[in-house]
Amino acid sequence: MTNELHIKEQSFLAMLAAKKLKTSKVAMVIGQTIHLHNTSKEDFLKNERWVKHELAHIEQYKKYGLLKFLTLYTWYCIKYGYHLNPFEVEAREKEKA
Ligand SMILES: [Zn+2]
Repeated sequence: MTNELHIKEQSFLAMLAAKKLKTSKVAMVIGQTIHLHNTSKEDFLKNERWVKHELAHIEQYKKYGLLKFLTLYTWYCIKYGYHLNPFEVEAREKEKA
């Protein structure tokens, strides 16, 4: 677990992601900040699996650095699609941890 969690509610970027993914609630990580759309910080933190998923992305950003992660993530989405993107596969695995 990270000792300091940065969470941004009603994030514009998360709203754009929600439109693109055609989902209502969105949490997305950019760097070390979790951006939320249509969900409160309180509700997000109640959902343990969801928090673990986003924490996995925070670790991935730490491992690769912002630019490399975003480049690889985008490339994997093109190559494998969102669901089979190795970063998403790993994050889903960590939900169960
Ligand atoms: Zn994810």
